[in-house]
This record gives sequence, structure tokens and C-alpha cells, in this order.
Amino acid sequence: MPSEFEIIARYFTRGTSHTVLGVGDDGALIAPTPGQELVISTDLLVEGTHFLADADPEALGWKTLAVNISDLAAMGAQPRWALLAAVLPAPTSDWIEAFARGFFACADSHDIDLIGGDTTRGPRAFCVTILGEVPTGKALRRDGAQVGDSIWVSGKPGRAALGLAHLQGRTRLTEPALTECLAALHRPQPRVKLGLALRGIANAAIDVSDGLLADLGHILEQSGRAARLQIPNLPVAGLERDCLLAGGDDYELLFTATPGSDSGITALAGKLKLPLTRIGEIVAGPPGELVLCDDGGSVITPATRGYDHFRQ
Ligand code: ADP
Ligand code: MG
Repeated sequence: MPSEFEIIARYFTRGTSHTVLGVGDDGALIAPTPGQELVISTDLLVEGTHFLADADPEALGWKTLAVNISDLAAMGAQPRWALLAAVLPAPTSDWIEAFARGFFACADSHDIDLIGGDTTRGPRAFCVTILGEVPTGKALRRDGAQVGDSIWVSGKPGRAALGLAHLQGRTRLTEPALTECLAALHRPQPRVKLGLALRGIANAAIDVSDGLLADLGHILEQSGRAARLQIPNLPVAGLERDCLLAGGDDYELLFTATPGSDSGITALAGKLKLPLTRIGEIVAGPPGELVLCDDGGSVITPATRGYDHFRQ
């Protein structure tokens, strides 16, 4: 088993591309770009809650960073720097090497420098703090939705939850859905390019980590608005519908924008080769109220809105 300092030196120390002083001192030094605000976010991944003890370490390394990048994407920010606090039981070199490979593959795909962290022994858990930049005043926030806005979602939400249901034996997926859903669960692709493109277009945005309805609920509460949803091709019922509406772990972006932007957003979907689906509109009403209709316009009451760590 490698020592703490071997772990840091061998697996988590690399060259940086835009950092004054990275791993190795008591603190890192960064020089933010003039005219930009720093966006900072942190997320925990805990064994037994976010991943299983036998999780593939390379996929886990990827996901540990990807879920943090997703928060910055939802702010319309360019991710730039990350810190990694790792709690490890008695790791083998192979395990850490694979975890670091996945982590840095994700870092490289978004040009992020790992600039520090902490390493300690204990029940396995990871905490990433991520920093990014956004031009002053241009960040996408949860509190800007306006009455009349179209509500949009990227990608195909529900796939990660379906993949998990398959692994837990609650459903049986077949190819090609199986590969797609497991990739969504294990290797989420944070929508950074979409977030950047939505600066100046979206009035509100959030990433879907707890479930479509739950995360839309956060926008509605913080914006003091209500919503009417009519999701095209909503699965008739059952697990597929539950996963789409309330499945967590997708890391797609949910956003609102004035209907004048509808055609521009459709064009953006083509440019990014990423489905963007209009699923409803913001309406006047009690803050947080959400009316969901099927394709025919009849009101549906979903079983749950999504995931809450202290409620399930
Ligand atoms: P200190 O005792 O001053 O907190 P550490 O020995 O914990 O310093 O860390 C030494 C250096 O290694 C610091 O620059 C710290 O940011 C970095 N570091 C520690 N753990 C990690 C990690 N898992 N990933 C990246 N950098 C790390
Ligand atoms: Mg330390």
C-alpha cells in the first residue's frame, strides 16, 4: 500500500497549463482572468450513497470530477481548476492508478488543472472543489425564470436511472439502450459547451442531478414562478416514466428562455449535436407549483419528484 505522500506525488501531481502554483505547497496560486467572476462549487461522493464498494475505479474517477463540472456548466462557466480531497481505506496502487486515470481523462477533456487537495485514510469518499470563470454578470442562475419562458432540457434524461435499475435487477435493458444507459450512469458528459452557449440566452438554468421535476422545482422556487409541463413522447407509465421525471444522476441541463429564442435554441441543438427538447413553459402561479400533462393534455400526478438524501 503506497504512503500518503507517494499517493500525492505519484498519482495526483501533474503539470498544469494555466496555474501559477499547483500541487506541492500549502496552498495553490491562481490568477483569475481580468473581467471574469470566479464560480466555485463543491460536491461529495460517498461510498454506499453515491457509488458501490465494487465500483470500477476508472469510471469513478471520471464521475467524481464530471459531476462537479456539471455544476459549473449549469452556471454558464468555463471550468478551470479543481481540488480533490480523497478519503481512502487501504488502497492498492492499481486502484488509485485507475481512479487517477479516469479523473485526469475527464480533467483533460475540459482543460482543467488539478491544483491541490487532501489525502487521508478512512471510509472511501471523495470531495472535489471546482473553480471556473464567467464574464462579470453573465452567470446563469436558478432565480431568473420569467412568465412565458419556454422550458428546455438537454439530452435524454432518465438514462442513468434506467441503467442503475438494470444493475439492481429492477428492469432488463437490451442493446443498444443498455450501453447508452450504463454510459450515462458511469461516464456522465457535463454539458459545458451548452452552458457557455446559453450565456445571454437562458434566463435560468440548473443541472439535473436529483431528477427533472425536483430540479425544475428548484428553479421555480428560486424564481417565484410556476410551470406547466407537456413533455413530448412521455413514456406511458411505469419505470421509464419514473426515471425520466424523477431519476437522478443525469447531469443534463434544464433551462428556461424567452420563446423568442426557441428557433435559436433548436439551431444550437444541431450545432452541438445534442438533443434540446422544449418540455413546457413558465406560468404565473404559486411559486414551485408544477402541473404536468400527458401528450393529450390530461393532468398527471407523478409518484415522486426526485431524490432527497434525507427523505429516502
Ligand atoms: P498540508 O499538510 O499542508 O495540508 P498535504 O501534505 O495535505 O499538505 O498536501 C501536500 C500537497 O499536496 C498540497 O499542495 C495539497 O494541496 C496536495 N494534495 C494533497 N492531496 C491531494 C490530492 N488527493 N490531489 C491533489 N493534490 C493533493
Ligand atoms: Mg492536507
